Amino acid sequence: MLIAQVSSPRFRKPRLQRMPAQTGTPMESQACPSCGARAGGRAECQGLFDQLGALAWSDPRRAAVHNLVVDAYCLQHPDQYCESAKSYAAHLTRLCCALEFGGQPCLYWAIPRWLDGKVQLRKPLALRVRGAVTVADVHAAPNSDAYAARVREWARSVWEAYASQQDLARAWMRAAIAGVSSRR
Ligand SMILES: [Zn+2]
Repeated sequence: MLIAQVSSPRFRKPRLQRMPAQTGTPMESQACPSCGARAGGRAECQGLFDQLGALAWSDPRRAAVHNLVVDAYCLQHPDQYCESAKSYAAHLTRLCCALEFGGQPCLYWAIPRWLDGKVQLRKPLALRVRGAVTVADVHAAPNSDAYAARVREWARSVWEAYASQQDLARAWMRAAIAGVSSRR
């Protein structure tokens, strides 16, 4: 059943009330508590990310940036995706791999191989500010070229937010490369 919107001036909605889904109005009154995306809340934010995953292989321009999508999103939602030291290291090192080491597939592959071995890791303290660009900005891109550009902006924004941990990420990336080289 469609819910008619009440337009009486005497009716004032509470600030955080969601808009009825049937109106098609974006639920911009609530922000994701983890990344700040104006998506309607944590569940709606997750929904946007899941949609990007489902569309990732529909276009090579989307596929080419999907590693960035996953790592940017996970690093903005560390409570869920970076709980263990290994998962934290995996996402941060992958982002470093893409932005500072060229992001070749062989380098991406080095990261899980390094983490599968005996590796001593100390998980850094989670950051409270994790980048101003969010999945909602990326999701709203009008076409695949704009999408790819926004994903790169998103990844760069997250990487800059993690500035205090970039040296650690670089050290992890070098360890991953060294681990693979020593097995050759
Ligand atoms: Zn979020």
